[in-house]
Amino acid sequence: MFNLILFGPPGSGKGTQSEKLIEKFGLIHLSTGDLLRKEIANQTQLGLEAKSFMDKGQLVPDEVVIGMIGSALDANPAAKGFLFDGFPRTTAQAEALDTLLTGKGSEISLVLALEVGEEELVARLLNRGKTSSRSDDRDENVIRQRLEEYRKKTAIVADHYAKFNKVSKVKGEGSIDEIFGSLAAEIDKKRA
Ligand code: ADP
Repeated sequence: MFNLILFGPPGSGKGTQSEKLIEKFGLIHLSTGDLLRKEIANQTQLGLEAKSFMDKGQLVPDEVVIGMIGSALDANPAAKGFLFDGFPRTTAQAEALDTLLTGKGSEISLVLALEVGEEELVARLLNRGKTSSRSDDRDENVIRQRLEEYRKKTAIVADHYAKFNKVSKVKGEGSIDEIFGSLAAEIDKKRA
């Protein structure tokens, strides 16, 4: 299996690039943000609980997202590989993911870290908020809180994988196709 983590702050383009990467490399896309929004749309208990955190720009508790990812892995036994988008977001999530993959005789192959400046991130998210149905993109305070959570809890997740030499940094500013080209080149290097 080829298992990829697309890493980076909110607004760095993970969703956009994920769509292109899964198509080119035949991976299954696992976005915890999308999975949580589906739970909210279906008005499940899990969705109701998660919504209160998401509306404030806070991370949803680890056990909730780890459980969701565990079920998604089990639901796709024949996968060639997975693309994790928006997960893991804490060191505890990273360790849990390693354990889940080890249990399936696999591991993370590569972490691609998108780098985008903070003011550019805020501008992109506010812009997305004008047209998307996502309420967490419409309020600048919620956006700043998400970036704060990223700095405090998520940025260090890259260090966890850097210990195993699995992280490649990619400039996340430029055209969508340019950035996609850089990401794809890193994957090709790793698979060669
Ligand atoms: P973005 O990265 O642009 O903020 P996402 O769709 O990835 O958007 O996440 C939206 C919200 O969902 C986050 O602010 C957080 O509340 C919650 N969330 C998503 N993934 C996780 C995760 N792995 N751990 C905890 N909370 C998460």
